[in-house]
Amino acid sequence: MSAHIIDGRQLSHSFRLDYGQRVKQLVENGITPGLAVILVGDNPASQVYVKNKVLACKDIGMHSLMLQFDAGMTQAQLLGEIERLNTDPSIHGILVQLPLPKQIDPQAVIQAISAQKDVDGFHLESAGALMCGAKGYWPCTPHGCLKMLDSIGYDLTGKHAVVVGRSNIVGKPMALMLLQRNATVSICHSQTANLKALTLQADVLVAAVGIRHLITADMVKPGAVVIDVGMNRDDQGKLCGDVDFEGVKQVASFITPVPGGVGPMTITMLLANTLDAAQSILDSQH
Ligand code: NDP
Repeated sequence: MSAHIIDGRQLSHSFRLDYGQRVKQLVENGITPGLAVILVGDNPASQVYVKNKVLACKDIGMHSLMLQFDAGMTQAQLLGEIERLNTDPSIHGILVQLPLPKQIDPQAVIQAISAQKDVDGFHLESAGALMCGAKGYWPCTPHGCLKMLDSIGYDLTGKHAVVVGRSNIVGKPMALMLLQRNATVSICHSQTANLKALTLQADVLVAAVGIRHLITADMVKPGAVVIDVGMNRDDQGKLCGDVDFEGVKQVASFITPVPGGVGPMTITMLLANTLDAAQSILDSQH
């Protein structure tokens, strides 16, 4: 058996065509959706992520603002910039690229972003809304994973979903989203006693760890759906995931590749959240 590939680039493309239409409608109603992306320092990976986000906005006709600051910027200066963007009516979403330099507390920065503009979904208000099943912005990466499951018409009800990784930005929100869809969810982490015993039970396996090839074919139940969030580099410097793609695709029914899987969907969900933020401003005017 060879698994079907869930192509994140193709899926993103079809979503973004639709989002382009939504932008047009918003513009016709007097609102150009706008995203501000803040980068502090010159981390090369962060520079690529930020550039891709800004380009994605442009591609669908959204306004985007890229603010780049020196690595020596103080926390007070960054909070000042956020305060300014919080009240800027041309900006509907604010994203601060992580990681931040040591002198800046990321939590203080995330909590300073207006919850109405928290398109990354990292604010405590957004996290609380997801926890309680209330309306709010969902973190983009796990939301993108869920959309990938939806794209294959996968019904999660009663299925065992195993999430490997418990970070606030991927693992935990992913588990909550799967739970909301009536899956029975297990969350694994670095202290999990027997990882393989759990992953072998998974109908849906989400790997969000950051360890190359942590998930091998012998850890996957035949016919499982495998979503690979990991972004690692192999010995040749090539991008690869947490899943041994070549081996696991012989066992799984569906699998996401790296690159070209969850990565593009993350940016697509960022666009979706920014559109929703702009739409809610329009709705509040009527
Ligand atoms: P974190 O480092 O914040 O979290 C990693 C998680 O993996 C932790 O919960 C950790 O457990 C767990 N873990 C570590 N080692 C093991 C192990 N041996 N077995 C089981 N669990 C383990 O990472 P993120 O959640 O931010 O990101 C995870 C991966 O996803 C990274 O590769 C990152 O680059 C990628 N990523 C990709 C995105 C995309 O758009 N495609 C977006 C965001 C992230 P513990 O809590 O006990 O330490």
